Amino acid sequence: MAEVAAPASVPAPVVLKLEPAHVLCDRCLGRRLIGAAGFDAQAAKAREVRTWAEVPEPKCPVCEGAFEDAPKWLAVALEAAAPFQFATFQAGTKFPSPCEGLEKEISRAMGQEKSGENIRTEANRWLATAIAKATGATTSPEGRPELVLDVDTRYWSATAESNSVFVKGRYNKLRRDIPQTHWPCRRCTGKGCWECNDTGVTYAESVEDAIGEPAEPLFGATGFSFHGAGREDIDALMLGTGRPFILELKNPRRRVADLPELESRINAVTATSGAAVRDLRMAAPEEVAAIKEGEYGKEYLAHCLAETALAKAKVLEVAAALTGVALDQRTPDRVSHRRADLVRKRTLHKVTLEAMEADPGVRFSLRVHAESGTYIKEMVNGDEGRTTPSFAALAGVPVKVEFLDVVAILDDAPAA
Ligand SMILES: [Zn+2]
Ligand SMILES: [Zn+2]
Repeated sequence: MAEVAAPASVPAPVVLKLEPAHVLCDRCLGRRLIGAAGFDAQAAKAREVRTWAEVPEPKCPVCEGAFEDAPKWLAVALEAAAPFQFATFQAGTKFPSPCEGLEKEISRAMGQEKSGENIRTEANRWLATAIAKATGATTSPEGRPELVLDVDTRYWSATAESNSVFVKGRYNKLRRDIPQTHWPCRRCTGKGCWECNDTGVTYAESVEDAIGEPAEPLFGATGFSFHGAGREDIDALMLGTGRPFILELKNPRRRVADLPELESRINAVTATSGAAVRDLRMAAPEEVAAIKEGEYGKEYLAHCLAETALAKAKVLEVAAALTGVALDQRTPDRVSHRRADLVRKRTLHKVTLEAMEADPGVRFSLRVHAESGTYIKEMVNGDEGRTTPSFAALAGVPVKVEFLDVVAILDDAPAA
């Protein structure tokens, strides 16, 4: 066991207690002494001072001569990267854990856990430089690279994973029997069971699938998920200029695609899918949070049915009375499993009569411009007193919404 004081040329005070087996090659010693690779001369000088034996790299217990294989790391990394289109990347390497463990132990013995550089950092830098040279892509040590490459130096194998790309647009939902997003079966959570006929989903179709399924092959992606600026009920239509959404495409091989072509593929089958899109463009990842947090006023058409016929004058009077009112809305039972039970204040900016089938009559449609988060069905039927005031309470007869359509999401996008 040797105990050696640090020579003057070495910045950190070093008291080294190493077993004879812990003798390192110049490369690995250099990383410990000066915190950066490639300073073999520095290591050699330290050896002179300390009379440490020099170990050839293949016999070094930390690197085991791995750096001799560096061209192979590059080859497997390039092979893994080949299917992907990328301009920025991050390269990582993996070494056998006994080697990394030993390096840590030596660092500790030298009082250098916090300084110095480990074997992975040196290998990553070499690999990143080589990949950049071979591909013309740039490394992105911070932030979000387009491609993440990992090389296992022991097995000469590599994996490549590309970060998601995002497509933003607006959608219409033109069917009352499809949900906005893919809806896994609640009983089996997607595995397939008797209740869902082994499909794993409660609804076989959705707006998400209608948009994501044609987008996936265009980007060479292996999956997608859908982020909407809020959502409408399954039985509600989304009309007008549509609702903003972002489609996230996972592990894409291509980062650009012909978006007008995607738009026309989706819209070519709207009659059966019930989904249409417009204004498609590529989006930044940060826009997902913005779209989910956005609180926009909305305009609805509520197609109502009264239990007994109402005079048109009465409907007009109640609509006028509700305009500008701040409702007290207690969380409806139908959503209480996913929202806290409390009373919210929601403003009705404008309520007008859109159409009425007869005067007096039982069927009429209200155009409602309401604050984000207003429960429209409950605003009409009163939800057994949980929403006050309500159309039904003011009209003096039970009234319910037969169909609800969202006709405008009042975000800052220009109206079509
Ligand atoms: Zn070594
Ligand atoms: Zn199921």
